[in-house]
Amino acid sequence: MPIGGARGRASPVPVPARRMPDAGRTIDTMDADRLDRARSALLEERASMLAELGAELDAPEQMTYGSQAAAASQVFAQQRDLALREAAERRVREVDAALGRIGAGTFGLCASCGDPIADARLEALPWAALCIDCQRRTGGR
Ligand SMILES: [Zn+2]
Repeated sequence: MPIGGARGRASPVPVPARRMPDAGRTIDTMDADRLDRARSALLEERASMLAELGAELDAPEQMTYGSQAAAASQVFAQQRDLALREAAERRVREVDAALGRIGAGTFGLCASCGDPIADARLEALPWAALCIDCQRRTGGR
């Protein structure tokens, strides 16, 4: 049976252009507009993470040795702050790496398997370095 003419019915709503599954896995598959949006989202995230890190740096040091419980909750708060700081620092590194991938022309491709990362995932997490499958395999989000 001849190929062509399979797409008979015109859809009423214009469908946004989709990446071809087997199209070249290069920057050409992602238009400049989307890259620009990703870049500004990344820069925004970077700025807010840096602001968070800066804000925590000059948080007043309030040592209250009133009781064991107060000391314990102080330690707990410090550990939580440390965890938050580490998360923010990691995020900044991820964002920087993603900005580097934009420059290198590999943005949107999984760093592990090389497949394109799903659009929805990139919209939500523009700094994502891995596709959802590889991310699951490494035990993260
Ligand atoms: Zn992957």
